[in-house]
Amino acid sequence: MYDAIVIGGSFAGLSAALQLARARQHVLVIDAGSPRNRFADEAHGFLGQDGRAPAAIMRDARCQLERYPTAETLSGEASHAAAIEDGFTITLSSGGERRGRRLILATGVSDQLPAIPGLSERWGATVLHCPYCHGYEMRDLPLGVIAAHPLSAHQAILIPDWGPTTYFTQAEFEPDAAELHAFAARGITVERTPVVELLGDAPALEGVRLADGRIVALSAVFTAPRTSPSTPLAAQLGCAHEDGPTGPFVKVDQWGATSVPGVWAAGDVATAMHNATLASAAGVLAGIGVHQAGVRASTT
Ligand SMILES: Cc1cc2nc3c(=O)[nH]c(=O)nc-3n(C[C@H](O)[C@H](O)[C@H](O)COP(=O)(O)OP(=O)(O)OC[C@H]3O[C@@H](n4cnc5c(N)ncnc54)[C@H](O)[C@@H]3O)c2cc1C
Repeated sequence: MYDAIVIGGSFAGLSAALQLARARQHVLVIDAGSPRNRFADEAHGFLGQDGRAPAAIMRDARCQLERYPTAETLSGEASHAAAIEDGFTITLSSGGERRGRRLILATGVSDQLPAIPGLSERWGATVLHCPYCHGYEMRDLPLGVIAAHPLSAHQAILIPDWGPTTYFTQAEFEPDAAELHAFAARGITVERTPVVELLGDAPALEGVRLADGRIVALSAVFTAPRTSPSTPLAAQLGCAHEDGPTGPFVKVDQWGATSVPGVWAAGDVATAMHNATLASAAGVLAGIGVHQAGVRASTT
């Protein structure tokens, strides 16, 4: 029986496990090896790691965790989670079970991209979701925002700080009067004919084709995917969820505790704000929260 099992071994999960290992807790990290930013060649804005490959950051983090004698890692997928009398049982897809007193779900989210030909093969390279992560590398180039939900206009208003911006309404997300006013102030062009195809030698982008056949030259586009928890584990355990602007996420308190006693969640799966540093910080809080819950349980 582990003191804690962390499911998901990326920014949130490894940060949580590191706190637990340093508190001399027996912690197991189960990780399927598919972090959300695996489509990008470089991660940006993460202090001390700016511009490094996501896989290299994770490799170092996992190595550092594995130096602690009470930490274990397991490459694989947790397919089922269930409460038992003194904790939780995790079933592995490969067969076998692991048991832990407490659980941290750090399983991230899955992205559902707009279904436009040529878009998915450029995801993480020239089709981007976050200007703070990848906008600087596209500075001064012609940029687009392909609207995918009501906050797309808000995203478009930010983008001119990186490059001249065209906002594509997709004939669905027409800016309101205040947004049009902000667009004018920011020099944003509005295009109301839908984008039907991305063009160029992927992952490079040369432009987009519109439904009326016109081509608009662009070097990168921003869009907002719909997101959903990448595993049903939180739902299996009965954790409450909240609705965020891009999709549902697990409801947690400031330490990452979910609505189910003994289960914490951290990182993208438990917030509407998706960023590696924030995921890591949430993991730290959850790790400390789990340790202190264990101390409380043994003293009351
Ligand atoms: C293309 C792209 C580029 C990005 N670039 C940046 C950037 O430059 N800077 C930045 O700050 N943010 C960036 N982000 C956001 C960043 O990737 C996320 O905020 C961050 O990865 C969230 O960390 P996490 O630990 O919560 O989840 P993830 O990193 O997604 O990790 C979740 C882990 O859990 C594992 N897992 C899931 N289910 C199971 C299961 N059932 N059993 C076992 N393991 C499981 C997955 O395999 C994965 O390894 C980017 C996002 C995208 C989509």
